[in-house]
Amino acid sequence: MSLQVTLKILRSRPHQEQRYDTFDVTVPDAANVLDAIEQAWAHHDRDLMFRHACHHASCGTCAVRINGREKLPCIAPVKDYDGGEIKIEPLRNFPIVGDLVVDVAPFFQNQEASDFIITRPTENELDGKAIAHTQGLDPESAPTVPFNRFENCVECGICLSACPTMSADYKFFGPAGLAAIKRQLDKTTDANEREKLLHLADDEHGVWRCHSAWECTEACPQSVFPAESIMALRKEINAQRFKKFFRL
Ligand code: SF4
Repeated sequence: MSLQVTLKILRSRPHQEQRYDTFDVTVPDAANVLDAIEQAWAHHDRDLMFRHACHHASCGTCAVRINGREKLPCIAPVKDYDGGEIKIEPLRNFPIVGDLVVDVAPFFQNQEASDFIITRPTENELDGKAIAHTQGLDPESAPTVPFNRFENCVECGICLSACPTMSADYKFFGPAGLAAIKRQLDKTTDANEREKLLHLADDEHGVWRCHSAWECTEACPQSVFPAESIMALRKEINAQRFKKFFRL
């Protein structure tokens, strides 16, 4: 079985007027939107700029907007769009490099400036058990293997595109950044470290800039739940203030 689909893709180049180009492509029934974009590139226009790598939602590289909603096209089935026209545009709130490619450097610069890490330290024992479990083995007899486990966040930038605050404050830490601060906070009991993290989240471009639209959580393809993390940080900051005020 195959599907006929029309892609309507926003084309952009620096100093040129934007336009939409349409491409009629045929893809297998089980194809995802990224497969359709590749067909358009392979059979219609080798000048089409888009980004991709893993094809299974673990790199976050291919993020775009599909029919106005932020998505990873590598896991967005074409058949979910009823075989109709599919409009594909680049993420918002990032400079456009060309067509569907945006410059994600500001995202990583923001993370760096905030001085927190995205990856977890090695968790040998835990991951050995987790691997054994998925293989149907006894977790208790699992070997300990060096394994660098990454956070759920794949740094796709989707939450920054969906966030209404980002377009008003480009210095806003953003949902992914604030969620990362919350994860760090959950990992430490060190009072100084916790105070430093909460102080960071309390910045003028931190949690209080969020308008509670919850679009980030709605759009995040990896169940990071950034909005919930932002609300939890607010709670912790207020609790800390309360304690300080009443000298508890
Ligand atoms: S929090 Fe979710 S949407 Fe935001 S960058 Fe990470 S994976 Fe992407």
